[in-house]
Amino acid sequence: MSHRILMLPGDHIGPEIVAEADKVLRCLMADFGLAAELEYANLGGCAVDAEGAPLPASTLSLARQSDALLLGAVGGPEWDAIERDKRPERGLLAIRSELGLFANLRPAILFPELADASSLKPEVVAGLDILIIRELTGGIYFGKPRGIRSRDDGVREGYNTLVYGADEIERIGRAAFEAAAKRNGRLCSVDKANVLESSELWREVMEGIAGDYPGVELSHMYVDNAAMQLVRAPKQFDVMVTGNLFGDVLSDCAAMLTGSIGMLPSASLDASGRGLYEPVHGSAPDIAGKGLANPLATILSVAMLLRYSLGEGEQATRVEQAVAMVLADGLRTADIAGSQAKTISTAAMGDAVVAALRAQQ
Ligand code: NAD
Repeated sequence: MSHRILMLPGDHIGPEIVAEADKVLRCLMADFGLAAELEYANLGGCAVDAEGAPLPASTLSLARQSDALLLGAVGGPEWDAIERDKRPERGLLAIRSELGLFANLRPAILFPELADASSLKPEVVAGLDILIIRELTGGIYFGKPRGIRSRDDGVREGYNTLVYGADEIERIGRAAFEAAAKRNGRLCSVDKANVLESSELWREVMEGIAGDYPGVELSHMYVDNAAMQLVRAPKQFDVMVTGNLFGDVLSDCAAMLTGSIGMLPSASLDASGRGLYEPVHGSAPDIAGKGLANPLATILSVAMLLRYSLGEGEQATRVEQAVAMVLADGLRTADIAGSQAKTISTAAMGDAVVAALRAQQ
């Protein structure tokens, strides 16, 4: 059976990094027997320009027929001033919500060769391997009512609603317990239960389902402490699970522990394992078109896509090994170069990964 993969390059560096992921997938198809079809569609600012909406109906329809989606990144200053509903980020929020992609998995793994790139001391981060699971379709980013209104005294106010149903909490909780059971069996649930009622319920539901996973040790941490602990002693964590807003912030913090945002993949999964895979970083307009973007986060997103949505674990391992090989060979894009003078371009990095793949034949 051939897998259907929908490629969504997006904006700015998006097309540059997705082109390298495309090379990797085509190498697996040509040389390693991967049965897949790659299709392309617009999402984000490019979709606004070409089709008048950040998530065109044609893209959504293709997405629904695909087994997995690979996204570059969306957004840029040229779309910041347009009406809110047409902004590129709305397209991303909408596709996550339309496809029911409620679980966002963000591994933060530090390749040994890059320990010096972290802003923390190498001994604090060397060997780091944590997984942050963020609830993605609920919480304050979607809660209603929301808006900007005028108060009776004429002063404007912005307002949002933080709401979580017990069913939403249980769904992400179970995904996190299952992930922890496959790793080192430690799950830390992050909330703000000392202040927020939605967190009080979050904690209660997590405790309620813990009994179904006897191999997993559940702990709780307030989000402010979790932020501190992530930069103080990040290796204490195995899997962390949290809501949409807290997860947004903590996963970016964890990203920096590894030295480069250009190295970090992510997966957003639905209940049946279909997923949208994308690098953690944005569309980096400041370096677009210059061949400076690091494509490895996108290529590692391909590895996650193969493993989590296509059940192609062996192909995934091949890709991860190829990335480890190019790093071991000293090949670096500018963002992970540290003090190393010689760097290579986006396309050269993609070519190097393909060469490292072929070397495994
Ligand atoms: P960003 O992640 O695009 O860039 C932050 C910094 O990291 C920049 O200096 C950039 O050059 C660098 N960087 C990012 N990716 C890199 C890579 N692969 N290789 C080398 N360096 C890299 O964040 P930003 O500047 O805050 O946002 C830019 C645009 O991206 C905005 O429009 C924002 O809304 C959008 N954005 C999109 C997503 C997404 O598509 N999922 C996520 C975050 C931000």
